[in-house]
Amino acid sequence: MIILRTRSEALAWRAELDRGRFEDRPRVALVPTMGSFHEGHLDLMREGRRRVGEDGVVAISIFVNPTQFGPGEDLDQYPRDEAGDLAKAGRAEVDVAFCPTDPNEMYAGSRTWVEVEGLDQYLCGRSRPDHFRGVCTVVTKLWGLLRPDVGIFGEKDYQQLAILRRLHADLNLCGEVLGMPITREADGLAMSSRNANLDPAARDVALNLSRLLAELRRRFVGGERRASALLEGAAAILAPARIDYAELVDADALSPIEVIERPALAAVAAFVPSRAGGEVRLIDNTVLRP
Ligand code: AMP
Repeated sequence: MIILRTRSEALAWRAELDRGRFEDRPRVALVPTMGSFHEGHLDLMREGRRRVGEDGVVAISIFVNPTQFGPGEDLDQYPRDEAGDLAKAGRAEVDVAFCPTDPNEMYAGSRTWVEVEGLDQYLCGRSRPDHFRGVCTVVTKLWGLLRPDVGIFGEKDYQQLAILRRLHADLNLCGEVLGMPITREADGLAMSSRNANLDPAARDVALNLSRLLAELRRRFVGGERRASALLEGAAAILAPARIDYAELVDADALSPIEVIERPALAAVAAFVPSRAGGEVRLIDNTVLRP
């Protein structure tokens, strides 16, 4: 696997791919990540391989992007394991990893921010102001460096994916954006790097997020379409996890809905006690289709 550490190394590597005849150029899949890999990340990488084929290039980035963390959030506690990640990526047949060691590598002298208006005012955007601005900015930078034919993202971060699709269309970026379903543990817990910061008791509490979504789906399948009735008792189902939000929103516009008449996103965010003594914020979601 090729490891790229700096922007100039990444640009030089990408320029080299463009040498030769256009028809022969390998296709590039990019999976941007913050590392600390679980099967969900590896599923995106394997999908990358399926998309570009044996002759294509699967690239990942590993960068814990400081600009998407707010003051008091878990930037310092975010799990990091570069050596383990590179070993896992190697087994998933990743060809190239862009791993800037220094945040300055991405931001030194930078004065440009990328912001998608509107879609960031709901759900996580409300509790994490500037989060999506940080995500959009770093993804745009990565896109410019590595110019993928396909960039692959998880529906685990549903709002992020919706925002990045808009960004990609609005800025006429190359290639396409591909979303992939949520990878879960056998008991339903959505895989997340932050699960590493849960002790066994907290992991049990974390299950309440997927339990809540299963309960919403049960009510929905039973014919209930009113958001208020679907969400009744949500905080109690999540407890002792502390609710940030549990909402039903339009699956495209992300705006709150009162009655489900077209595909709706049931989305939840909650804080569970962490191993280190503070709290870990976890998210999960599911789409309900009438
Ligand atoms: P992260 O490292 O958490 O920034 O995630 C990198 C990419 O992996 C993002 O596109 C996430 O949406 C995706 N991802 C994270 N967890 C999962 C999961 N459980 N299933 C599918 N994709 C995921």
